[in-house]
Parts: sequence; structure tokens; C-alpha cells
Amino acid sequence: MREQVEKMIVYKQKGTLAMAFAIANDKSLADTILSNNMQNDYYDDIISKFSANGLYKRSWMQILDKDLNPIYSSFNRQNSVELNSVREDLMESSALEKPIMSISVGNYNLCMRAITPIIKNHKFIGLIEVSSGFDSISSQMKDIGIDSVVVLSKEYKNALKIPFTKMFIEDYYIANIDAPITLMGYLRRNGVHNYIHTSQKFENGYIISTFPLKNIQNRVIGHYIMFKKQEDVLNINLDFFMYKWFSIAIVAFMIMASIFGNFAFYRNKRQKMYYKNIIDSSSNIVMVVDKERIIDVNKTFFKYFNEFDTLEEFKAEYQSISDFFAQEDGCIDEDMDGVSWLEYLMKNPRNNLVKILYNEKEYYFTASISLIAEDNAHYSVIFTDVTEEKIYQKELEHTNITDPLTKIRNRYYYNEQIKKESASSNRYFYPLSLVIFDMDHFKKINDNYGHDVGDKVLIEYTKLITTYLRDSDIFCRIGGEEFALILPHVNKSDAYKIADKIRMKVQEYKKILPITMSFGVTEYVKGEDLEVTFKRADKALYEAKNAGRNKVVVR
Ligand code: GH3
Ligand code: MG
Ligand code: MG
Repeated sequence: MREQVEKMIVYKQKGTLAMAFAIANDKSLADTILSNNMQNDYYDDIISKFSANGLYKRSWMQILDKDLNPIYSSFNRQNSVELNSVREDLMESSALEKPIMSISVGNYNLCMRAITPIIKNHKFIGLIEVSSGFDSISSQMKDIGIDSVVVLSKEYKNALKIPFTKMFIEDYYIANIDAPITLMGYLRRNGVHNYIHTSQKFENGYIISTFPLKNIQNRVIGHYIMFKKQEDVLNINLDFFMYKWFSIAIVAFMIMASIFGNFAFYRNKRQKMYYKNIIDSSSNIVMVVDKERIIDVNKTFFKYFNEFDTLEEFKAEYQSISDFFAQEDGCIDEDMDGVSWLEYLMKNPRNNLVKILYNEKEYYFTASISLIAEDNAHYSVIFTDVTEEKIYQKELEHTNITDPLTKIRNRYYYNEQIKKESASSNRYFYPLSLVIFDMDHFKKINDNYGHDVGDKVLIEYTKLITTYLRDSDIFCRIGGEEFALILPHVNKSDAYKIADKIRMKVQEYKKILPITMSFGVTEYVKGEDLEVTFKRADKALYEAKNAGRNKVVVR
């Protein structure tokens, strides 16, 4: 969680920095500042255009002259007496004349800042600052089941002149307006200080993580405290996809603003180069496409498709990036139910997963699309690499469905699969059989040779059984030494044959110790309750035990 919030903060700062850059590069700005003739409307207009993109709703901008006096503020024009001279980040950016991303306390709030100097003829003439609060991040975190309380360290309380949220826990100012009241109460009761000095706590069913917010001097000035319900932790895999959205949206927006945008500041070649640099420096694959073809790609495209140096070379051999789409459940395909993947994306622009196979390497991306020019129907398509996350997710899923001792599937998987298989057996009218089996007198093995030997027997014999199964058979450990075998497309009498073969092979194996197993076999009856099917198989197993064990009984 801490890593996530850190990334979100950086993405947000990068996005706002790009915005500050763009405005700082507008030549007319320098003239306006020097002539002391600020056109508020002009900048209000730019800001409102940026705001039209949801991400920037909670951001504001100020332009400062070389002495750090505010000459424009999108936030509050009458009352723009920010005490900028005490803000270290502003001073540093003006002193070093370089862009800065920081977190600092202003008159109103604890904010993330992106600050860019305005230079004309090599002379520093002012700064542009784009600030944003933590609400945009906390609301995204909320979407993925994480509640946030952003606190300002007490020492900085006095720096706030007009506290934006007006919320405090003792002397700690709360910087996100959506901080849940219950959690603020929780922190008040237990003492905020108990949470800001540890990075992670497990308490009352919550995982509580704290990420320190540092200012430009690397001093901790606040804390981002996150609460996640412990029971939700297995859902964490989804989270990875969410924070990526930040970067996607930002890049998409930058493209929108650049190539075809009619923004006031997009005027000359240099700025075009500037945008190209932003897009090229993105770690995402960025493509400009129309309904059929790729028109332009960024540099990152060739990091993946590294046999090609230019788009022309690529296009000489391939139609589109979709030539490399690999099929997998949950991933989009070149053709989606009769519509092309691009059209599909246009209708479903969010959270699409794409698998790409190139040079025998597999990659996973989330794909997003946005319209960049209505008239000629150009779109920006952005592929964000989520290969690592996907692999992690798969491992996690694998652990969830795998029995740690025998490495075969577990009871949870059995329950899922029997549901799935019975549903398709109902739908497509194919037979489905179920075999439940159990080792005979296993207690004695434990008693006579110890639990460790018992474990080894379990491992060896499951391995043996696996060798006699087909890929479509589903083999699960559903209890201590009790197993289930789901056999799609197999009827009762064939299921008996399979079970009896396993019975024989087990009896003959004699590795570590000679053992036997008893089997109950049944066939799923269309439409019946799965509980009934299971009970029938279990009853058959019971009968096999009663009949002297090492037997297969069909019911
Ligand atoms: P039956 O022929 O009637 O099945 O006799 P049984 O002794 O096998 O009886 P039952 O199936 O009821 O007992 C299963 C025993 O298996 C109980 C438990 O001690 C043992 N067992 C369950 N899980 C494990 C395990 O993971 N490792 C080991 N070593 N033993 C286990
Ligand atoms: Mg047993
Ligand atoms: Mg048993």
C-alpha cells in the first residue's frame, strides 16, 4: 500500500509538472510578466480547459514574479497573499532555476506541488506552480477499498492560515476532505502518534500502513495513513491496475493537449518537441491510431518491438500491434465478438487487459483509449505494462487454489470447478462424473511411522495419481487424505474404470509404504443440487470402506 500511494503521488506530481511546463513554455507568458499586465481571463481559460479533464479538478495554479510575489492565482484572486517567501520549495526552485516536485504546507492546505521556473533570455523572471491536494489520491484509494487519513505534523499547524478542511485530530490537521469520521475517531482514541512512527500495524481487523510525506528538505511534514480491512487483502491484485490509471490518464491528456489540441500554448515547433519528449519519456506504449491503422507511436513502442527502429519498418511487416495479441481468459482479442479490438476499446475504455507475445516473451498490458480529435477520428491508445503485477497476481491466485503439501488443487478450487463444470454440463449436455477417494487406515501410518512419513506418503501417492490423469481431469485434495476427481465428459461406467485403474496403481506402487485407497463414484444428474451429487459419491465411498476397503463403489 505504501508503495502504491508513493507512486500515486509521483504520478500526480509528474502530471501537474507537465502542465506547469506547458504553460511556462508559452512565450507570451514571459512578456506578460515583464510588462506587468497579467491577463487573468487568458489563464483562467487555460485552467478551465485543464479542469475539463477530471484529473485536474482539484488542482490550482499560481504564477509568481521573480521576487515570488503572486501575480496570478487560479485559486483565489482577491486573497492571493500566500506567504511564498517562507515556502522552501519555491525558494529552492527560484534559486536553482529548475523544476521541482514537492510536498509543502501553504496558507490553506498540505499540498503536492509542481514548480517550474519561467526563463526568458536566460534570465529567471518567475515561477509557475501547480498545486493539488491529497483528495484526488484518497478518493482513488477509496475505489480500491483503502481508506485514507492524511495528517499534517503538529509542528506545521501554525503555518496554515485558513485550514481548507477545517478538520483536526488534536493538533494534527487532516488534509483530505474524505477522511472517514470513524477512522478519525479511531485515531483520536488511540493517539495519532501511535500510527505515524510505525510503517505497518495489524489491529482490529485492519492493516494500517503509514507513508511519510517529506518536504523538499527531506523533513517529514505529514503522514499518509491507510486503512485496509484485513479480509480484503486477497483482493489486492486489483489495486495494481488502479494506480496505473493515474499515469495513463495523464499521458492521454498530454497527448490530447498536444498533437491535435487547440490549446493556446501549443504554438511552435519547440513546444511540439517538448510534448513529444513527454510522450517519449513515458514508460507506457503510446500510439496514435485511427479506426484501422497506427499513425504514430512513441519510443517505448520500440523497447518492446525491438527488431524495428521506425514505425514504417514495423508496418512493412505487420498490420497492427494486434497481430501480437495472445489469447487468454480476460484479455482482449483482435476480434471481440465481431467488432475490432479498437472499437471494443472505444466502447469499454477502462481496465482492459491485453496479452502480447513477441519474440517468445509474454507481456501483459492494460489498454486504454481516448479520442484526441473528433473531426478526423484519431485516438490515443496507451498500453501500460502490468506484466509483473499480472505474474504476481497469478502466483497469488495459484497459492489460493493450490494445496501447499501436495501441490495439487485444494478444496476451494474443487468447489469452484464443480460449479463451473456442472453448469457447462447442463448447458452442453455432456456427462460429468465425480470420484471421491480416501486413503485406507491412514491413521495407523501416522501412529506407527510419524506424521512426517504420513506427509511423504501423501505427496508420493498424489504424484503417482497425477501421472494417470488427463489434462481435463480436475484432481483436488479436499480433506486430510481425502481427494476428489472431477471428470468432465466422462460417464459413470468410464469413471469407474478410471477409478479402478488408480486403485490398482496405488496398490501396486508400494513406495515408502504400501497403501490402498477406497473410491466412491457417481455421475452428476442434470439440474441437481451439487450437494446431492457429493453426498452420493461420499456414500459410495463409505460403502467401499465398509465392504473391506481398497474398492470402488458406483452410485
Ligand atoms: P479409513 O480407512 O476409514 O479412512 O481410516 P483412516 O485411518 O484413514 O481414517 P480417516 O480417513 O478418518 O483419518 C484420516 C487421518 O489422516 C486423520 C489424520 O491423522 C490423518 N491426516 C489428515 N491430514 C493429514 C496430513 O496432512 N498429514 C498426515 N501425516 N496425516 C494426515
Ligand atoms: Mg482414510
Ligand atoms: Mg479421511
